[in-house]
Amino acid sequence: MPQTPSALDNVEVAAALRAAAALLRRSHHAVALVGAGLSAESGIPTYRGTGGVWTRFGEPTIDGWELFQSDPAEWWRIAVERRVGGSEFADALERAVPNQGHYAMADLEQMGRLAHVITQNIDNLHQVAGSRHVTEIHGNRSKVRCMDCGARDRLETVNLDRLPPFCPECGGVLKNDVVMFGEPIPADALEACYRETLQADLFLVIGTSAVVYPAAEFPLLARRRGAPLIEVNTEETDLTAFAEVVIRAPAGIALPALVELLLVP
Ligand code: NAD
Ligand code: ZN
Repeated sequence: MPQTPSALDNVEVAAALRAAAALLRRSHHAVALVGAGLSAESGIPTYRGTGGVWTRFGEPTIDGWELFQSDPAEWWRIAVERRVGGSEFADALERAVPNQGHYAMADLEQMGRLAHVITQNIDNLHQVAGSRHVTEIHGNRSKVRCMDCGARDRLETVNLDRLPPFCPECGGVLKNDVVMFGEPIPADALEACYRETLQADLFLVIGTSAVVYPAAEFPLLARRRGAPLIEVNTEETDLTAFAEVVIRAPAGIALPALVELLLVP
């Protein structure tokens, strides 16, 4: 009978998973920093790394934030056109559903093993999978955010007949919640990230190249305060050298295997 491929078949990965499970059992406030690699198995390309959008096509021009500031109506017109017109990346985001890695993270939270997720992903898949304690440091593509009061709402509820749309609470200009290059990270999200990082006694770094700041500094900050790092990534990153445990396997395989190990008393 054919066997299901298991992360535990690889001796090194199996040992790393056991070490990670032992750390998770001992911790009281484990926090995870997540990147695009977690959603790669949901069919959403990463930016960097093998097969990444930027690896293949180069980095995009960085003028979106300037345009929004000078002409929000024009920015919205372009955004609406792109949404209708689609692109390889936008279509993948639209179609994506959570993978076993997202569900395993929700399981870890439910089991009381994972206190908080800081995600750099904008795809809303943590929430769809059932994670509840999530901070989206780079925003959420299915939401809008008021540039004055910071209130967020679902994009689908916003009337886009007149652009730019305005905040029903305070009259400020609304923008898609996704944080653009050059745009400051929203204060509430940044505050939650630092609060969780400072509380963490174990820090997981999952599917991120850990080069985008300030997100990349959270693991190192936690580590300086004594929290061991666990890395889950298919490739080496700048953080690998600092990690106590490195699980060199796809998150969609490694994380469910970790849940399995933790289910055994
Ligand atoms: P990144 O593209 O820079 O790096 C992705 C990392 O994931 C790489 O280190 C790669 O080795 C690893 N990886 C690839 N497949 C994996 C798998 N199956 N399991 C485990 N690891 C895997 O992504 P980043 O670090 O998140 O930073 C890029 C920025 O791009 C983020 O700020 C994010 O907002 C944005 N982004 C978001 C999405 C999304 O929402 N799904 C997708 C692409 C980019
Ligand atoms: Zn407002």
